[in-house]
Amino acid sequence: MHPIEMVDLKRQHHAIRKELNAAYEEVMDSAGFINGPSVNTFVTELEQYLGAHVVPCANGTDALQICLMSLNLKPGAKVLVPAFTYVATAEVAALLGYELIFADVDPEDFNLSPQEVAKAFEQHPDIQVVVPVHLFGQMAPMEPILKLAKAHGAYVVEDMAQAIGAHYSQKGLEGMAGTLGHISATSFFPSKNLGCMGDGGAIVSSDKQRAALAKTIANHGQGKLYEHEEVGVNSRLDGLQAAFLSVKLKQLDKYIARRQEAAGFYDERLGQIDGLHVPIKRPYSSHVYHQYTLKWERGNKEELLNHLAEKGIPAKVYYPIPLYKQKAYGNGRFVPKELPGTASLVNQVFSLPMHTELDQEQLHYICDTLIGWCKRH
Ligand SMILES: *Cc1c(COP(=O)(O)O)cnc(C)c1O
Repeated sequence: MHPIEMVDLKRQHHAIRKELNAAYEEVMDSAGFINGPSVNTFVTELEQYLGAHVVPCANGTDALQICLMSLNLKPGAKVLVPAFTYVATAEVAALLGYELIFADVDPEDFNLSPQEVAKAFEQHPDIQVVVPVHLFGQMAPMEPILKLAKAHGAYVVEDMAQAIGAHYSQKGLEGMAGTLGHISATSFFPSKNLGCMGDGGAIVSSDKQRAALAKTIANHGQGKLYEHEEVGVNSRLDGLQAAFLSVKLKQLDKYIARRQEAAGFYDERLGQIDGLHVPIKRPYSSHVYHQYTLKWERGNKEELLNHLAEKGIPAKVYYPIPLYKQKAYGNGRFVPKELPGTASLVNQVFSLPMHTELDQEQLHYICDTLIGWCKRH
C-alpha cells in the first residue's frame, strides 16, 4: 500500500509532470516572472471557468485583505465572520482596524448560520460586511445570507479558499462559489483544491468595477503608471505559479470528482457507525471536499487520533480553538461569551485524509481502522 498522506501532492504532480515541466520551461524562456504572459493566460482561463472577473494576487490572506480594502470602510466598521474558520478570515479585518463580530456556525454543516447572522444584525444593525466562509468545500447558505445583508445594506465577501469549483443553486440564486457575493477571495496554497507550488491567491467578483478597483489596490493603488489613486499593497501572483495553475485548472473538475468519489466511499462505510457523524450534504450546494470532516461525539478524540497515527493514518483537527478564544482575538475584546455551535465542534471534529490520489486499498484500510476503534469505544 502507498503511504497515506493528508494531501498527496507528490503523486498528483507525478501524473502531470510533463505538463508542469513544460510550463516551467516556458516561463524560464520568456523570463516573464512578474506579470508575464502566463499570468494573463491563467486569469483568462479562470475567468472562463468561474464566469466572473479574476484579479490574481500573492495569497489568499492578501485576497481577503484586498476584498475588504475595496469596500472603502471607515476604521471601526463592523465585520461579521464565523467563529469557526481559519484565522485569516478574521485577521485581515482586525489588521485594517475594523471591529470583528463573531457569529456562530451551524454545527450540522460547519457554515455560518443564517439564524445567527440575523441575531447579530439585531444586536448590531450597523454591521457593514458579512464574510461567509465556504468551509471544507461546501458553500454557506448564500441565499438567506445575501437577503439578510441586503436588508441591512451590508456587503457580502465570500471566503472561497476551500471551495473553488463548488456550485450553488437555491430559489433562483445560482452560480459558482465566489460569484454570488459582492467580492470574494480564494487561495492557491498547495494543499487547496486548486493549488500551486508556492503561494498564490485571487480576488473574484461578478462586478467589473469592483474587480478593477481590487486590481488597482493589489498594484500599489496604481491606475496609470506612477499615478496612485488609492493606498494599495504589493500583492502579485508570480508567472511560474500562474503557469502551474493553468496546467492544474484543466484537471480541477476531475480532481473534484475524485475527492467526491473518496467522500462517497467514506460516507458509505462510516455513515452507520454509532457516535460518528459523516459530513452533511446540503441540497443547495455541491461539496468539493477540501476536507472530509467528521464529528465524534463520544469523547476521547485524542486517543482516536493517536490510534490512527500509530496505524499510519494522518488525521487533523480543523480547527481546535474558536477564534474568540484565541489570545489575539479573545480576552473579551470582541465577544465575551461562548458560542455553543463552535464550542461543540472544536471538541468533536477531525478530518481524514482527503485528496485526489486515494485508492481503494487505502480507503478500505482507513475505514477498517477507524471502525475498529469506534466499536471498541
Ligand atoms: C487557506 C485559507 C485562507 C488563506 O489562504 P493563504 O493563501 O494561506 O493566505 C483563508 N481562508 C481560508 C478559509 C483558508 O482555508
